[in-house]
Amino acid sequence: MSFEEVVRLAQQRGFFFKSAESYPNAPAGFLDYGPLGVALRGRLVELWRRSVVKRDGMIEIDGSQILPKAVFEASGHLAGFTDPFVRCAKCGSVFRPDKLVEEKTGKPVPEKLEDADYDRLMEKSGVKCLKCGSKLAGTSRFNMMFRVGIGPAMEEAYLRPETCQSIFVDFPLLFKTQRVKLPIGIAQVGRSFRNEIAPRQGLIRLRELNQAEVEVFFNPSKLDAPRFGWSKKSVLSFRLADGAESKLSVADGVANGVIPNFLVGHYLALIAKFYEEAGIQPDRLRFRVLSDEDKAFYSRAAFDLEVKLSIGWLELVACNYRGDYDLGRHAKVSGTDFTVDDGGEKVLPHVFELSMGVDRSVYAVMESSMTGEGDRRAMALKAYLAPIQSCVFPLVNKDGLQEVATSIFNELRERLDVFYDESGSIGRRYARADEAGVPFCATVDYDTLKDRTVTLRNRDTRQQERVPISDLSEKLLALTRYPTIST
Ligand SMILES: [Zn+2]
Repeated sequence: MSFEEVVRLAQQRGFFFKSAESYPNAPAGFLDYGPLGVALRGRLVELWRRSVVKRDGMIEIDGSQILPKAVFEASGHLAGFTDPFVRCAKCGSVFRPDKLVEEKTGKPVPEKLEDADYDRLMEKSGVKCLKCGSKLAGTSRFNMMFRVGIGPAMEEAYLRPETCQSIFVDFPLLFKTQRVKLPIGIAQVGRSFRNEIAPRQGLIRLRELNQAEVEVFFNPSKLDAPRFGWSKKSVLSFRLADGAESKLSVADGVANGVIPNFLVGHYLALIAKFYEEAGIQPDRLRFRVLSDEDKAFYSRAAFDLEVKLSIGWLELVACNYRGDYDLGRHAKVSGTDFTVDDGGEKVLPHVFELSMGVDRSVYAVMESSMTGEGDRRAMALKAYLAPIQSCVFPLVNKDGLQEVATSIFNELRERLDVFYDESGSIGRRYARADEAGVPFCATVDYDTLKDRTVTLRNRDTRQQERVPISDLSEKLLALTRYPTIST
């Protein structure tokens, strides 16, 4: 199914849609989640919490979205969180020069070019203003942080462009109060804000986005831990910096240098396992190894976890070995001591980061789950991710079937997310449920009145079985349970 079809379905069924939809000139890059989207995103985040945070013994925080200027001086965002842009001298339209050149030539433009290089590239490839056709030149820089003012004095502050800065800033306090030991992951789910210059693919490049980030703090001289045991045999797919594709176990990847150490390998395996549990086929996932030109200057090794979709390979998680850059910078600018004790040794921990885009991941899970064609299509979400776990239908709206179905619905909804539907033919109701990703449908028919059983239909197999009403709630709870977090 194409990107456009999935986005259309998402809007029709109430997963997500453009923000301020009623206003034709509402800015791009903002998204509203509808009822099914709120539930799907919530369940996906809960799966991440189980598969990543709890499985690895991490701790979780929820930091504030507005942070003082000093934090972003230290992090480097104030100076460096910029994108190139060019303004048409004739009509005033604003574009990303790198994107225009990429679209014109079909070839990727390297990151980290000088402004003059973009002007040369636009000249060479004959890029013109998309609106009025004029020649474009004069690339400059735009800082993508949203600036806000605190109090009547409007003290300079910013909406966070990523969730992780509060994890770094809070690290000394958390390490002390939570009585944790290195290596320790600190996780956070929340909103981030990026004033993108020209976001076009709505859901893929948002100005207000949801992130789920993990920062793993570790002693750089201790790169293995007993809990990393299971991940060494995990087999991961890589796209190497020279373009070659390779499947390697973590142990082999460390041995031949694709993965810098077991700690990094462990966390790559952990995040890949989460996406498999979210229903994405392992052969549609790969780690793109970033070349030195594409890495941030402080990064010692970087991988983008990508998923193969109808629009090509899409980055879902930036996996980045950041060294001691973050803690070192915050220590310097704040004057606070960020070193900790690790078994008698005083260390400034290194950081490995897993920075996941939640909105993209919701989209990826939806598109990867779509099966069938035309009016027979279904969203085969894992049952534990389904926003609605079961529908309850009366076969027909007479002879007391509605009353029985309503009482079953009222009982189930105390423990499950269920939906009651009595409108349209039973076939139409199944079709609607399939498209909304509902894994089970319980139908009350004339046999129910005789033997107190219902038909339980499985979305994926289309098989139906008779289940006693008295067992229905327990059975559905068992069928929609999250996977166990054992490794
Ligand atoms: Zn123009």
